[in-house]
Amino acid sequence: MAVSTSVPELGSFVAGEWRSGTRHADDTNPARPSEVVAQYALADADLALQAIASASTAFPMWRGTPAPARGELLRKAAALIDERAEAIGRDLTREEGKTLGEGIRETQLAANIFRYYAVQALDPDGDTYPSAKANVFLYTRREPLGVVTVITPWNFPICIAAWKIAPAIAFGNTVVWKPAELVPLTAAHLLRALVDAGLPQGVVNLVLGKGSEVGEVITTHPDVAGISFTGSNAVGRALQAKAAAKAKRVQLELGGKNPAIVLADADLDLAADQVARGAFLAAGQKCTATSRVIVEQAVIAPLMERLSAIANTWKVGDPLAADTIIGPVVSEAQLTTVLGFLDRARSEGARVVAGGARGTGDLADGYFVKPTVLSGVKATDTVFREEIFGPVAAVVVADSFDQAIAMANDTRYGLSASIFTRDLGRAMRFADQIRAGVVKVNAETAGIEYHVPFGGMKESSSGSREQGKAAREFFTESKTVYINIP
Ligand code: ADP
Repeated sequence: MAVSTSVPELGSFVAGEWRSGTRHADDTNPARPSEVVAQYALADADLALQAIASASTAFPMWRGTPAPARGELLRKAAALIDERAEAIGRDLTREEGKTLGEGIRETQLAANIFRYYAVQALDPDGDTYPSAKANVFLYTRREPLGVVTVITPWNFPICIAAWKIAPAIAFGNTVVWKPAELVPLTAAHLLRALVDAGLPQGVVNLVLGKGSEVGEVITTHPDVAGISFTGSNAVGRALQAKAAAKAKRVQLELGGKNPAIVLADADLDLAADQVARGAFLAAGQKCTATSRVIVEQAVIAPLMERLSAIANTWKVGDPLAADTIIGPVVSEAQLTTVLGFLDRARSEGARVVAGGARGTGDLADGYFVKPTVLSGVKATDTVFREEIFGPVAAVVVADSFDQAIAMANDTRYGLSASIFTRDLGRAMRFADQIRAGVVKVNAETAGIEYHVPFGGMKESSSGSREQGKAAREFFTESKTVYINIP
């Protein structure tokens, strides 16, 4: 297709310079795939090596920069991201497909995250202890790891990057950042805000490349001390195995198959609304999205009625339009995957109560999937076990509260989970017994706050937590110092 001259040309940012290249890729709009949003030069392994070298060179300077000065950079970056939130959010929507409101709010959240870690940089970084020996001053101090690699997915292109990069640099590390190939424009915006805020050379390096081409270098190089990754289980586990063999610190945030339990005593209007939000917003492309709905028999009919009514009325369309609630899924590959899961569900005996197909008419060109409610699903069905990453709620019936909890826990994942009930005792038992890193009562499984720890149990993570004060644990290591005062 003809590309207008206004299409931005993007490149990696290494050693304080934007880099062009010879191989280019198109960044397209999932609502209108023929529209090229940006073009970017693909980094190769050699440029990735330069990024690591640049971060290594910058590390002693950045480690030695007083924490308040590091915090000041984050504060300025936050102000710039806020100022530019509308423009960044719009570009985020154009390349990723979530609605404009979601794109702008995500950008503002990224600004908040930078502001939060600007303050965190000044928090205590150790403890003092009484020593068993006279005249010994005994203390601990947390120090930065060194060069850290940050690998981020496309579904929250600015806020996941922010919640990794902000603490990494606040605590004195330098960064090599590889965003997902589908969202280079949002990545370039974030980097520009950091540069305009006064980012010293080499402190953050952006590598716009394919995982298959630059992934190996940035995760196994001897100068990389830690890796923070959010993405698929397959890539994350493979990366962890290789990095562990080289004694690197690894943090993984992976998939989910998040359950929402609706008990017979629940406020059904609230439950249906929250389940729909969790399952359908952002076209279901959140690792915390609601994917399994486990409903007590007594309320299955009224709950299904409410949920299907929402699925049939929420507007699917151009994510830039003000009245759109659900935009497209991010790519053709994702569309094929989601439709494949729906075919599989039908062949395994599920009934499509709402949606169940690609968008038609005006929506036929984009990667739109109608919000889908499936009933008659069995706990053994693929659609109840595998992560879909699309706007699909698979509903099963539970005979009792205990069976509902057992079903909710019957998964290799453990990211988020919710329950709808007016019974405080049952809500508390659920919070106690569910194996998930994020637990909600009378609220959707998605939606997290940045000042509290976030992460999953079982195969949903590597066990560490991100955000809040937990971020310091990952991005620093502790040293214990004994000073004998003769
Ligand atoms: P998703 O399903 O979210 O696309 P991926 O795991 O494929 O999940 O992608 C998450 C991030 O991991 C992206 O930035 C992607 O480019 C990157 N990635 C993919 N393959 C590799 C790899 N072999 N090494 C390092 N990073 C990779």
